[in-house]
Amino acid sequence: MSPSRSKRSGNIAEVQPTSHGSMESLPVDHLEWVEAWGMADKAMSYVFRPSTVERLEKVFALARETGRKIGLKGGGNSYGDAFLNEEGITLDLSRMNRILEWDPETGIVKAEPGVTLANLWQYIVEDGWWPAVVSGTMNTTLGGCLGMNIHGKNAYQVGPFGNHVLDFEILLPSGKRVHVTRESDPDLFHGAISGIGMIGVFTWIRLKVKKVHSGRLRIWAKQARNFHEMVELFEENASSMDYMVGWSDCIARGRNSIGRGEMHFARQLPPGEDRYAAQSLRADRQALPDNIVGLIPKSISWKLMKPFVNDWGMWLINTAKFHAQKRPGAEKPYFQSHAEFHFLLDYVPNWKESYRPGGLIQYQSFVPREHAARVFTEQIRLSQQRGIYPYLGVTKKHIPDDFLLTHGVDGYSLALDYPVTAKNRRALWRLCHEMDELVLAAGGRFYLAKDSTMRKGTVARYLPRENFERFKALKQRCDPEGLLSTNMFRRVFGASPAPDEQLERHHKGVANSA
Ligand SMILES: Cc1cc2nc3c(=O)[nH]c(=O)nc-3n(C[C@H](O)[C@H](O)[C@H](O)COP(=O)(O)OP(=O)(O)OC[C@H]3O[C@@H](n4cnc5c(N)ncnc54)[C@H](O)[C@@H]3O)c2cc1C
Repeated sequence: MSPSRSKRSGNIAEVQPTSHGSMESLPVDHLEWVEAWGMADKAMSYVFRPSTVERLEKVFALARETGRKIGLKGGGNSYGDAFLNEEGITLDLSRMNRILEWDPETGIVKAEPGVTLANLWQYIVEDGWWPAVVSGTMNTTLGGCLGMNIHGKNAYQVGPFGNHVLDFEILLPSGKRVHVTRESDPDLFHGAISGIGMIGVFTWIRLKVKKVHSGRLRIWAKQARNFHEMVELFEENASSMDYMVGWSDCIARGRNSIGRGEMHFARQLPPGEDRYAAQSLRADRQALPDNIVGLIPKSISWKLMKPFVNDWGMWLINTAKFHAQKRPGAEKPYFQSHAEFHFLLDYVPNWKESYRPGGLIQYQSFVPREHAARVFTEQIRLSQQRGIYPYLGVTKKHIPDDFLLTHGVDGYSLALDYPVTAKNRRALWRLCHEMDELVLAAGGRFYLAKDSTMRKGTVARYLPRENFERFKALKQRCDPEGLLSTNMFRRVFGASPAPDEQLERHHKGVANSA
């Protein structure tokens, strides 16, 4: 019998024993609903939050005794089911959050996996350093950044997060703790990083951060009329800019307007240019503003967004933004702190709440340079034809990398935010599968940190065969009993029902528990 999912609150008293083992052996007071970041999926599981490696090891022993699977969770910022583990154990590593060593001369830091990017930049910035790669939110943990091998707005120059990792310690499901460098065990290094938490638990990580000579970046904003122009502007500016990103209005229609939007280019200041570098590098000078447009307290601003989170509201906002960008002087350079530039999505805390009750998913595809503008245009056109509009589109430029579950290509990615409703859910999943075919035909890839919809078999279609085989062999070597598993792993890789049946169950499960 499965645990009852009839109540959204997940009243633990109602949970019944499952087929996985005897209920007595796992403490019922650890049962919790764990929600995907995008809130469109959730799972009931036994959550443990160890603060030391020894406690972590005890959870592994408990899982083995009770026949449960373990899924790892960092900050919980993956949009889909990457850290959900229905009826199993969720090992939340956010309490293992100490910075263990820091050398301000070399920029080498050693830290536990639960240290967030916010913890890290606040610790190092005043010494003139910044993380080499950051995500669009600072709430991600180092363990999660390695687990997905995240990329930043400088991916086209410095590659993903894993490129900046020197070594790490990993606890394997066998109970063995291994110190790993690129040379000591290349497959373990390149497979655990990017390995979606399926190889072992990072217990500490040592990485190299990047020197900065000011707390500020010089930014240029430029308009692009469509994806083709956006790609041209990326290509023109790649050698002179340290960071680049494009924000597209995906509701705009018209043959030459698909993908139109604003691009941001940023350059670091060279040594000596910022005469007040000691001031601009202060952590408190990096902080994001407390108010939106100087007036609205950040804590309530998501409530004001709510009336606009629909097709018409989004059209209005996007159109207004596009025309505002045409005003005289809008393309003049300006300055922003590193945090302001990188963490735009953290400006409005809890903005995702405005997408309730259905939540949102993100669909991010990576397409080789020569096909990118065309495929992205087709994706938006298809979405518009199906009447399901993405409310945000973010484009970045990338390079390939050596990690086993790589999403990097010599090309571009487009991340699309789609609202999920009870009404559009099935059609949205179907749309994503149609878009998958466009990407696969162009030799593109996907990113599991953002995925909610991929069907079993797709990874084997986009990943180089050698990577796929090496990853499978690594999983077998490090976790022969298959102790580490998540909803995503079972959905995308696993021995599970046929794709359509699997999908149908998934929709029903989510609908019943809502
Ligand atoms: C607003 C927003 C903006 C984002 N912007 C970007 C972006 O610009 N670029 C980008 O690449 N991503 C971006 N992301 C996605 C995010 O960076 C990734 O999902 C990242 O992995 C989340 O880190 P986390 O600590 O929250 O990990 P979680 O989401 O909790 O976990 C991610 C994966 O890592 C595994 N994991 C966690 N801890 C460990 C550990 N100690 N050992 C082994 N495996 C572990 C988990 O099992 C899971 O598979 C964004 C997400 C949000 C919400």
